Amino acid sequence: MQRKPEGTQRLRQSARTDGAVVGSAVGDALGAPFEFGAAGVFSARFPGSGAADEMCGGGGWDPGEATDDTQMAVLVAESLLERGGPDLPDIFARFQRWAASGPKDVGLQTEDVLTNGMPWDKAAAVHFQVNRRAAGNGSLMRATTSAVHFAPAGQQATMNAARRIAALTHGDRAAWEGTAVFHELIRVTLEGADPLAALPDIVRLIDPAQRPRYATVLAPDWHPDQATEFNGAVWPCLGSAVWALRTTATYEDAIRAAIDLGGDTDTVAAVTGGLAGACYGLDAIPTRWTAPLHVPLPGFGGRVLGLPDLLDLAHRLTA
Ligand SMILES: [Mg+2]
Repeated sequence: MQRKPEGTQRLRQSARTDGAVVGSAVGDALGAPFEFGAAGVFSARFPGSGAADEMCGGGGWDPGEATDDTQMAVLVAESLLERGGPDLPDIFARFQRWAASGPKDVGLQTEDVLTNGMPWDKAAAVHFQVNRRAAGNGSLMRATTSAVHFAPAGQQATMNAARRIAALTHGDRAAWEGTAVFHELIRVTLEGADPLAALPDIVRLIDPAQRPRYATVLAPDWHPDQATEFNGAVWPCLGSAVWALRTTATYEDAIRAAIDLGGDTDTVAAVTGGLAGACYGLDAIPTRWTAPLHVPLPGFGGRVLGLPDLLDLAHRLTA
């Protein structure tokens, strides 16, 4: 089914920002039990849409429990709000506090950077110098809150903020540029434009050395089967999220398509959910998915955010 972007243009902007923040968290929680599984597992278990138990939990996750993707997105959001803007050492310190308190999941690269003992402005760069492979999707997965927050500041400001926050944990410029593309996709969607129509222009805004690989995975005829890396890497993760948006017509179908790709299902669905939530708005997200949604914040006093807390966060991020 083809998207009908014209049908979504009249949404209020708050419906879009709420949809992005909640949509990403829902995708994360819905995809988490299927992480590292094969393609098609979700739709084999839930062949039709509307089953009450789709938010099923499993693999160590409770039904509706959001993972590191959303937990880190909340940490970024709370730092932006409490510090009155981007305070990179503060975001890094919150990440470290969280990582040190034993979250159920943390990306390998992110964990290494947060625990290698280096200062905030050196840790990721040193990791990249040693390992050379640092283009995981771990900065992209947490970017919806910052994308919503920086969107009103305009194209250049939001893309630069994306790069700087990504660089806290990812030394590879590919991760910065993929996160910057996501920020800009959210910005144009919040303005009511069609993010897919904007893609060619957005790709021209990134570092020239990074353009060819992004042009490939973001092209209209690219399919996730053509990925040359596991979708835990930033390129196929972003490409798969855009593919899921392009080939479906609702929030729900976009998320189902993303999870059905298998692999890094929570993160691909979190990225898809941010984009699809911004496109279709909060009301397009099924309440059977938002009702059990909750976001534990290890290291922060045992706090667990529910839907009202996420909506409050979304409102304050855009106030
Ligand atoms: Mg995760």
